[in-house]
Amino acid sequence: MRIDSKTSAHSHIAEKFRIAVEAASNAMIIINQEGKIELVNTEAEDLFGYSKDELVGESIETLVPEQYRMSHLEDRKTFFKNPNARTMGGGRDLLGRRKDGVEVNVEIGLKPIETDEGLFVAASLINISERIRNTEELRRTTAELRRSNAELEQFAYVASHDLQEPLRAIEGCAQLLRERYLDKLGSLGEKLITHTIDGVVRMQALIDDLLTFSRLETRDNLLEHTDCAAVLEIVLTNLSATKQKAEAEITHDALPNILADKSQLIQLFQNLISNALKFCGDRNPRIHIAAVRKRDGWLFSVSDNGIGIEPRYFERIFHVFQRLHTRREYPGTGIGLAVCKKIVQRHGGQIWVESEPGKGSIFYFNIPKNQDLGQMNFEF
Ligand code: ADP
Repeated sequence: MRIDSKTSAHSHIAEKFRIAVEAASNAMIIINQEGKIELVNTEAEDLFGYSKDELVGESIETLVPEQYRMSHLEDRKTFFKNPNARTMGGGRDLLGRRKDGVEVNVEIGLKPIETDEGLFVAASLINISERIRNTEELRRTTAELRRSNAELEQFAYVASHDLQEPLRAIEGCAQLLRERYLDKLGSLGEKLITHTIDGVVRMQALIDDLLTFSRLETRDNLLEHTDCAAVLEIVLTNLSATKQKAEAEITHDALPNILADKSQLIQLFQNLISNALKFCGDRNPRIHIAAVRKRDGWLFSVSDNGIGIEPRYFERIFHVFQRLHTRREYPGTGIGLAVCKKIVQRHGGQIWVESEPGKGSIFYFNIPKNQDLGQMNFEF
């Protein structure tokens, strides 16, 4: 029998069947045990470029590219022997062949339909050619970005490394000039030499920072169980002189153990806390380090009562060499927050600031749980 047989007693049911197939939002094709097409809907016509009349009664292999026809035939026979529902998503991505010969990627879900007249199979198809093209495009763009990023990092590293050499030579000569010819230089000459040496020292600091920054990328990810409380202790010891001088008060929440690159975490906290100590205006800094457990990891924050930042600079300050003040107002090279950003990103998180000028700033960053290593990495 044919599902669309008008003379059969099942014509009523067959009609309902046809309506259901036509109403499906995906392309639908119904085939019988012999692999002959029984029913197709308009979406299937559009997908393959055939009309219903051209398809009904034809073998389903008509819609399969020639090189796959034999194996498709085998698969089909196996399926009919042991039919089990193959749903979309869990289904296979296959190639279909349109009437004009163009091949399309389709995702196929198969459902066996038992009837008194035997077994039929409903195939639901989605054209995923576009999705595949987009994924491929995205993959290529990501690979290209990664490559050019690595190249840039490498360039920054090599350039800053090579710049150190001539700089050392300039400094050496300037120092010698000052030592040997001070009496002949006069006060202007001495001033100029001092300026030269100051410039060189500053440039060395910039190059050192640039090297630190580019080394972050070349370093392997050395994730280890890291006690944030111990990290903070190290940072506070490193900053103790500055803290004392500023008469700062630094408090903190209970801090967790996380999986992290310990030395980078030290650098991260140190940069944020030393900024909080530095950009305090004429107040005594009051700094608090908080840690809040979130569903996907930990959210840390470093808040201060300092000079604050205008919202229009919230993004810019995380870029390399971006500063909002002159060196005379506040010393620095403008790379600290760029380093913080890179460290956080290398741990899969994000960093941002909330601030009110004149009142203080809160720098937030999150360190997500490492999916591969499960929950054990985030315990108190
Ligand atoms: P640096 O501290 O060497 O200037 P950073 O990259 O650490 O470089 O910071 C960039 C700029 O962001 C600083 O120059 C400052 O203007 C601003 N900034 C950073 N932290 C704070 C803070 N806690 N309070 C106010 N401004 C800040």
